[in-house]
Amino acid sequence: MNWQTREIAPGLYLVATPLGNARDITLRALDLLAGADVLAAEDTRSLRRLMDIHGVPLGERPLIAYHDHNGARARPRLMAALEAGQSVVYASEAGTPLISDPGFDLMRAALQAGVPCTTAPGPTAAVAALTLSGLPSDRFLFAGFLPTSAGKRKSALSELVGVPATLIFYESPKRLGAMLRDAVEVFGPDRAAVVCRELTKKFEERSAGGLDELARKYADESPKGEIVVLIDRGAGPVTDATTVEAALQEALTRLSVKDAASEVSAIFGISRRDAYQMAMALGKN
Ligand code: SAM
Repeated sequence: MNWQTREIAPGLYLVATPLGNARDITLRALDLLAGADVLAAEDTRSLRRLMDIHGVPLGERPLIAYHDHNGARARPRLMAALEAGQSVVYASEAGTPLISDPGFDLMRAALQAGVPCTTAPGPTAAVAALTLSGLPSDRFLFAGFLPTSAGKRKSALSELVGVPATLIFYESPKRLGAMLRDAVEVFGPDRAAVVCRELTKKFEERSAGGLDELARKYADESPKGEIVVLIDRGAGPVTDATTVEAALQEALTRLSVKDAASEVSAIFGISRRDAYQMAMALGKN
């Protein structure tokens, strides 16, 4: 099918593109790709391919690379086009621009320059995974990519222990096993979690279970493709000392002081230090 060119008003258009299945493009995204004066993309080859699939000709229009490594150099050219009253579409490689993808500085610059800005919303892996996860979707926190070093990753996870929302992470397949092991330490072995892989693609997969179960599964199996990890909310922070003490007392019948403190801090969203001190005091009595 050849896409009809429509006239596009001046301004910056952030256009979401499919995560894998090219047919997830929206009709409005195709209108904008067909009609904008200037196209900019994180990966110009991917955008060309997507336009070819949908019969959108590039013609003589410029297609400018705009990504993390050339943003400062490429931005002035895009800003000049915008300030001259042209329409500029920006698409990242897949999904929604700015969501763990480039585009933030361009959007800020355009807003600051008083250029009209809008979005053509569409797929984003975080929301696709949330809707498929089976975990509560009423409140969620998108945490993006975790730090790659084990120490920083654990402290980033610890900050999220008491958050009363489904947690969503992007993760690379080669770090999935290590991330899940760290998550077991921080959130406890039984916290419900889901790994979504290759969403909207041929080998789409959803694996659900307790964190420990998933950590074991992915310890030996290094999956291929793109991955979102979701972790269920905990019980939320509890200030009621009697409840925490009762849980600690029970945990101390099974575990060392350190492990009991770790488990209870994860369940109730209190600091490990506080839980440890309470466990020490209970241990002495
Ligand atoms: N801007 C994108 C969005 O809106 O989701 C995210 C880009 S970020 C550089 C890439 C990460 O998104 C991947 O490492 C993976 O965690 C996640 N992702 C993207 N496509 C995915 C897919 N089809 N299935 C699962 N996760 C995906």
